[in-house]
Amino acid sequence: MQTTTPSKHTGSCHCGAVRFTVEVDATHASRCNCRVCTKIAGTTAIVKPAAFTLDSDPAALSQYGNEIGQRYFCSRCGVHCFSRGHLEQLGGDFVSVAINCIDDIEMLSVKVLYWDGRHDNWAAGPRETPWPIA
Ligand SMILES: [Zn+2]
Repeated sequence: MQTTTPSKHTGSCHCGAVRFTVEVDATHASRCNCRVCTKIAGTTAIVKPAAFTLDSDPAALSQYGNEIGQRYFCSRCGVHCFSRGHLEQLGGDFVSVAINCIDDIEMLSVKVLYWDGRHDNWAAGPRETPWPIA
């Protein structure tokens, strides 16, 4: 969970069928070592649901879920844009926004932290070095 100053950004998938607005501190993001985050190389910023607005037709989205949350991706171009979920260690309901989908982000300026989602080790919080996957 970011604690620095959020600002408003727009984001989208590649083809433009999915568009959103999010208030987020886009200087920080996190990666998770769980199996699905590893497969899609997810790099996300976590916000409260009120900070996120879907600006496009929800019908353009497909979703894929687990017990923690649902991942939403564009049915046309396949880009994973965001997830919605609930995890007490993240403060309850959250939206996890793909930082790569934010339109004005220079990834080189984003500080990336790492979660140990593979072991449900959410209580440990994010850290500066990746967690083992074994
Ligand atoms: Zn798309």
